[in-house]
Amino acid sequence: MVKKEFSALELTKAFLDEIDKSNEKIFAFLTVTRDSALSQAKRIDDLISAGQDLPLLAGIPLAVKDNIMVEGARCTASSKILEEYIAPYDATVIKKLKEQGIVILGKTNLDEFAMGASTENSAFGPTRNPHDLSRVPGGSSGGSAAAVAGNLSVCALGSDTGGSIRQPASFCGAVGLKPTYGAVSRYGLIAMASSLDQIGPITKTAQDAALVFEAIEGKDEKDSTSVNSKIKNQKSKLEFKIQNLRIGVPKEYFMKGMDKEVEKTVKNAINKLEEAGAEVREVSLPYSTDYALAAYYIIMPSEVSANLARYDGIKYGYSSPAAKNLMEVYSKSRGEGFGKEVKRRIMFGTYALSSGYYEAYYLRAQKVRTKIIEDFNRVFKSVDVIATPTAPTTAFKLGDKTKDPLSMYLADIFVTAVNLAGLPAISLPCGKIQGLPVGLQIIGRHFEEDKVLKLGEIFEKL
Ligand code: GLN
Repeated sequence: MVKKEFSALELTKAFLDEIDKSNEKIFAFLTVTRDSALSQAKRIDDLISAGQDLPLLAGIPLAVKDNIMVEGARCTASSKILEEYIAPYDATVIKKLKEQGIVILGKTNLDEFAMGASTENSAFGPTRNPHDLSRVPGGSSGGSAAAVAGNLSVCALGSDTGGSIRQPASFCGAVGLKPTYGAVSRYGLIAMASSLDQIGPITKTAQDAALVFEAIEGKDEKDSTSVNSKIKNQKSKLEFKIQNLRIGVPKEYFMKGMDKEVEKTVKNAINKLEEAGAEVREVSLPYSTDYALAAYYIIMPSEVSANLARYDGIKYGYSSPAAKNLMEVYSKSRGEGFGKEVKRRIMFGTYALSSGYYEAYYLRAQKVRTKIIEDFNRVFKSVDVIATPTAPTTAFKLGDKTKDPLSMYLADIFVTAVNLAGLPAISLPCGKIQGLPVGLQIIGRHFEEDKVLKLGEIFEKL
């Protein structure tokens, strides 16, 4: 662009053409924001013609998960209850990316309210995996991962509450970074489970993920859980050398029942890092595989049941025209507006929090959460990062797991502990099995995104 070999407008148009051509079959985008994309691109071309300095991401096309607000654009969270909802303001991440000159192509499909691992729970139909259209892209940020993998965007934003950035990145052969809890503002993200949610990038390379992360991270007065991490990131950037890196491989993450080929592919990837000079040692995280999923599926729905109470047919979104009194406004609007999986989780969560069960479920799950955090703290005393598979399988067929919620939940077995502990983690493409991508997950210490990103760059070179 700077050399004027092509303009920002041409680049944007090329992606919009590609979306016109392929979105019907992949269904990555729910909404294409064509006009604003073209005017954002034009603004960058004007800056270039005027010889002005360009911001970090000038003219770069971005796809945004449809649970992140972009002012003036529809924001549905893939739910019927928000089908007509127009975002009244920009999420902080969007505001920051606009300041960096990004061009927003549109909003991408997800499992309703980000609940799912296949994007089949969308009220508007499933997204398909660009590597094999009969298979799912993973979820819940399946539209964002498919947009990047299918060349419908350069980069994308996803959200990760229990793997929703990393698992679809793994299924689609993209890079996905879940930042440390608090590293990125959640202001303007439609809340799922507030103690777990984080926004992060899905990209083609680790370097691209680093650029997007750099643009969105940092403290925001509108999100009291956000903190400034910049200084720490700058500092450790200088010290990184693969020969100094100790990688822990938790033995529990290579378990019975996982795909043997996935296990082999991930172990090969770890061997590559060892050959390049990293020290690899076996570690143990007993709580994180045995109990994380169970604790997650108590804590997450409890928070879901509280967060989704606001969709009452009055404050936001759909209101049932059939309601005859106030009680029916609530029950019919929610009954007609929410999908099956969302209702299931609201019921689980309400049950877990109810009097007499609170101690047995929610409180117990929170204690397990502390055990998981202690597990990681102990291991991070002797290693710098932890390497695991991102998912136990490659992308499965559409319809394979929709009848059995529990088998869908098991797709999250390697990713949820990271959210419970608030750690940063990246999924990197590390090979293919019969044409289907496999993901390597690298988990870092709190606020050491730079380390996992740098390791990602080195791994890509290898
Ligand atoms: N598969 C996870 C779930 O259904 C993913 C949630 C997420 O990260 N948004 O809860």
